[in-house]
Amino acid sequence: MEHIRLLLDIGELNWVFKDSADSETLLQNIVTMVARHMKADVCSIYFFDEKNQELVLRANVGLKTDSIGKIKMKLGEGIAGACLKNIEPICTANSLVHPDFKLFPGINEELYKAFLAEPIISKASRVGVLVLQRKEANPFSEDDMLALRIITSQLAALIENAKLLTSMNSYIKQIAAIDWESQSESKFIKGKPASRGYVYAKIAVIEDSKAFDDLEKMSFEKCTLGDFTRALQSTEKQIELLQKKVEKNLTDAASMIFTSHLLILKDKTFINGIIGEINKGKNPPDAVITTSKKYIHIFLANPNEYIREKAKDIEDLAVRIVANLVRDDIKLPGVKNRIVIAREFYPSDVLRLSSEQIKGAVLISGGVTSHVSVLARSLSMPIIIANDPALLNINRNAKILLDAEIGNIYINPKRDILKEFADRLKRKAKNTPAVMMPVTKTKNGLRIQLMANVNLLKDVDTLKELACDGIGLYRSEFPFLIRSNFPSEEEQFFVYRKLIEGMPGKEITFRTLDVGGDKILSYFQKTKKDNPVLGLRSIRFSLANRGIFAEQIRAILRAGYKANLRIMFPMISSLEEFIAAKEVVGQCAADLKNKGIPHNGAPQIGMMVEIPAAIEIIAELAGIADFFSIGTNDLIQYMLSADRSNEEVAEYYLPHHPAVLRAIKKVARAAQSAKIDVSVCGDMANSAAYIKFLIGVGIRKLSMNAEYLGENQKIIAVLDSKECRQMAKEIVCLSRVDDIEKKLWPDKPIN
Ligand code: PEP
Ligand code: MG
Repeated sequence: MEHIRLLLDIGELNWVFKDSADSETLLQNIVTMVARHMKADVCSIYFFDEKNQELVLRANVGLKTDSIGKIKMKLGEGIAGACLKNIEPICTANSLVHPDFKLFPGINEELYKAFLAEPIISKASRVGVLVLQRKEANPFSEDDMLALRIITSQLAALIENAKLLTSMNSYIKQIAAIDWESQSESKFIKGKPASRGYVYAKIAVIEDSKAFDDLEKMSFEKCTLGDFTRALQSTEKQIELLQKKVEKNLTDAASMIFTSHLLILKDKTFINGIIGEINKGKNPPDAVITTSKKYIHIFLANPNEYIREKAKDIEDLAVRIVANLVRDDIKLPGVKNRIVIAREFYPSDVLRLSSEQIKGAVLISGGVTSHVSVLARSLSMPIIIANDPALLNINRNAKILLDAEIGNIYINPKRDILKEFADRLKRKAKNTPAVMMPVTKTKNGLRIQLMANVNLLKDVDTLKELACDGIGLYRSEFPFLIRSNFPSEEEQFFVYRKLIEGMPGKEITFRTLDVGGDKILSYFQKTKKDNPVLGLRSIRFSLANRGIFAEQIRAILRAGYKANLRIMFPMISSLEEFIAAKEVVGQCAADLKNKGIPHNGAPQIGMMVEIPAAIEIIAELAGIADFFSIGTNDLIQYMLSADRSNEEVAEYYLPHHPAVLRAIKKVARAAQSAKIDVSVCGDMANSAAYIKFLIGVGIRKLSMNAEYLGENQKIIAVLDSKECRQMAKEIVCLSRVDDIEKKLWPDKPIN
């Protein structure tokens, strides 16, 4: 009877829990109630902390009150620890002589002899332990044990929820306790550098971009229709100016950024809608908000994702118009000159934010070899990836210092850190970049070709001051990313011609469109797929969209007229694919010839080696391709099944995995046997240790971002190719990652 009442009470507690956020009180109520019903002098709940594999006392009656949170024992330690480890209740008449007993001095536990511990298990995982103790050395009865078992199983889910809530509360308290602004010591967070540079600036948290929502809550002084017309004109001028600036810096990629803003601004229905509201008596700022809201709702209801995204443009435009209407009343929440903190970026965000002149970024997720990082390097936008969501809660007035050379983030840095930073910048400015030697050679005179990876036309300007043997990889997809439609053949021709003219006489390798994966065309991919990197991307996309593919090839062939032109297909996984892609080039060349259009009729045609399937058929591929370029970024991702954009699996993304290194060697060998050219254009070509290995397996051509060229020329100049060969020979015989690490980084301390 007693037990039934207890179970009813527990049912009641369940209900109480639903409406209560105070899990501590709830747990306390549970132990009080269970102790009373079970006639125990002590009742305790221990939570199991999986991370630390220990039990922590969370609620108690009978022991000293300040013991909560302080009593901790490892799994298997003490009677409660042993009970949870074996997932078995333990009942003893005298705990003090039990072999597992552990005394915690100062909490009066020695006063209680009878002990009953019941594990709390939910969905087959350990939640904690419920413990009862009595003074006298009378064991708990079988009935008691059964009752406690029923109680615990009834309470398990409830306690698990309380456990979750407690851990969340402590996390929230932790975040709230971080008063970034008034920190006397500089708060420091370690991340991974994704794009190099130093920068010190105020922050802007992207998730806050609720400027339009804020507008709705504001009240404005009375304005006139004349004010509205003037505000429209100023907005148009501002946007045109912005557009011009962007076009100057990013001719190829970002020319379309503000077109839709301008189009909306000129849209008669939109403007007349606002005027109509004003004529009905609405204050112009409110008229702008009401009309924009109507449009936003319509856009958001559209099934097409691209149209839905347009709602953002309307919001942005409304904020700009209202800001111009009321001038001093609202401040445009901008990102200009700020360090942006965001959960993640797409490559198009990098382009857009670069045009809005952000200083740098901290991302909560992403990978250092992702395309976001690759693109940010071209734009000299320092980025650190720090897997710490608390950064999104940072005080909005905080200033942060990014040392994206090594991945350090200092929040509200103290003076001494700032001074060190300023000194470093001065030193860097004094150390004008070393002039590069015209050709790159190893210490023993072996010629290595250093090529550049180009993502944007802007990179070509940088190359003019550096010694490089040509463009080893032009990522032609970036100009496609931010537009509102596919660039026409003419637009592409214009960009490609500029690229070729920027590197007269040098070898230029165009990689055909490599979209998909993390490079999404907002105007094309209509539905999101589950595994985009395994989907219709890259050459698969081109072959499935022959019209788009042919337009690109024609533009390349035309731009490559009289140039040292190479065309390379990404993501080739079979001979058929390569042959099909090559045929498109042949057809385009024939077409141009028929029409008498000047073009390059005989470019070298090669492929990227970045799909594991290509490795097994590499000898046959070497028989039909003019050259190989090893894309290690994707090769590693696919060989090791570790998403290059996912920080959570970064520890699995290992360029020095034996499978990867042996695959590279195999490709180099196949190319040598077939006497075709082979290069490496992934990020492995950026790093000193890997360069040694790559030269060792016979790679003589490396392609990298411009920023690494000078540094790597120096690294190569002190290498002896015979030593490289010996080192590579030894490495490919090793099968353990840690043994390879010792060879590649002999000076690195072992953790
Ligand atoms: C690669 O995969 O290594 C590569 C160079 O191409 P991307 O980084 O553009 O995929
Ligand atoms: Mg690739």
